Amino acid sequence: MKFATTVIIGAGQSGLAMSRHLTDRSIDHVIIERGEVANSWQTERWDSLRLLTPNWQSRLPGYAYNGDDPDGFMSMPEVVRFLQRYAKVSDAPVETGTRVMNVRQRDGGYEVLTNQGQWHCRTLVIASGSCNIAATPSLSAALPRKVMSLTPLQYRNPDRLPDGGVMIVGASASGIQLAREIQASGRRVVLSVGEHVRMPRAYRGRDIQWWMDAIGAMDVRYDAMEDIERARRLPSLQLVGTPERVTVDLNSLRKAGVELVGRLVGLRDGKAHFSGSLANFCALADLKMHRLLASIDEWVRSSGRNDAFPVPQRYEPTAVDPQAKLSLDLNDGISTLIWATGYRPDYSWLDVPVLDRKGRIRHDGGVVPAPGMYVMGLPFMRRRKSSFIDGAGDDAADLAVHLSLSLTRAAA
Ligand SMILES: Cc1cc2nc3c(=O)[nH]c(=O)nc-3n(C[C@H](O)[C@H](O)[C@H](O)COP(=O)(O)OP(=O)(O)OC[C@H]3O[C@@H](n4cnc5c(N)ncnc54)[C@H](O)[C@@H]3O)c2cc1C
Repeated sequence: MKFATTVIIGAGQSGLAMSRHLTDRSIDHVIIERGEVANSWQTERWDSLRLLTPNWQSRLPGYAYNGDDPDGFMSMPEVVRFLQRYAKVSDAPVETGTRVMNVRQRDGGYEVLTNQGQWHCRTLVIASGSCNIAATPSLSAALPRKVMSLTPLQYRNPDRLPDGGVMIVGASASGIQLAREIQASGRRVVLSVGEHVRMPRAYRGRDIQWWMDAIGAMDVRYDAMEDIERARRLPSLQLVGTPERVTVDLNSLRKAGVELVGRLVGLRDGKAHFSGSLANFCALADLKMHRLLASIDEWVRSSGRNDAFPVPQRYEPTAVDPQAKLSLDLNDGISTLIWATGYRPDYSWLDVPVLDRKGRIRHDGGVVPAPGMYVMGLPFMRRRKSSFIDGAGDDAADLAVHLSLSLTRAAA
């Protein structure tokens, strides 16, 4: 059995940022990674994906993007290189090709069983990702066998799909990006739309992420939220990172030929049934987007910078076809269904009673209710930006302080 004061599970941005902070505090540790550094970005994303956060926003402790395209959006090979370089310059102690099979409490710490042997540690950081498994609704079990069922974690490009039309369920970042790409490849695409967050790529001459950063929206803390559970469940922003900086929303998809339908509520006898709430969801998303834009305008006005930016803009409401289908016979040319219905973490290896009845890890801003155990990278975990590359640094800094104090206390 090997020993480290801290074992970090996962060498994505979360694990690497935590490692950097532990190194700065001279806390000996190891990062256990089942693949290579940045494994999720390398093996679980589709071919054309680019970050939806601009390059300047790829900031990690002691390291940041310093290329010549700060406003561009990294492709997946670029993200992988970015994180692998970070691991190298940080001299991060990563054990690659090592899968954690079981974690349990032992001797006041944790025993971590891997396919390469056992570790014992006093403190444990779970940085194994929040998007390990595609969250598909239970009704997916009723999909007819002849329709191929895929998740965004399995999808690679349109050429790999069987001939025929594609229905995509979910219109957040993944869903709208796949709808755009598959439609552009010449296929019929039906997009089932539930709750979503509409967002322009740019506003008043700046990227929307620049505004969110400037007005402090990404730094809002979890303990300042009235309903943090709801905030954690909110869908991702309808954004895509492209060299042309295009806005992709339901209006642009509809113009491109994507057929919009309501939220999928049932699959029966080969037919998909949709709720009649499409217009409501769209109206709500329009309202919320304009509310955010109004708060940006207010920030500009109150900071006396009105002349520094172009005048405020408002956008066309989302156009909804009053005849939008309430059901669709999947035999009518649909050969693939993609569940862009969100993601969830995998804790199947965690043998410590810290999961709630829905299988979610219990935590208070990343501090898990088990001595010396922490989690990282979950949506709105400590801050709105917690699950983003740009959020890993601040969360790791806070949790490293907590972890260090817990070691001091245990030693005393
Ligand atoms: C489609 C998509 C697009 C995204 N786009 C952006 C974006 O544009 N900008 C942005 O900031 N964020 C984006 N994110 C969100 C987030 O940044 C990524 O999900 C990111 O990968 C999370 O980093 P992480 O370090 O927390 O987890 P991960 O990158 O998932 O790292 C976890 C690591 O743990 C390893 N691991 C898991 N289980 C085990 C085990 N049992 N044993 C050993 N190792 C294990 C995995 O192999 C992986 O390397 C996106 C997410 C998705 C799904």
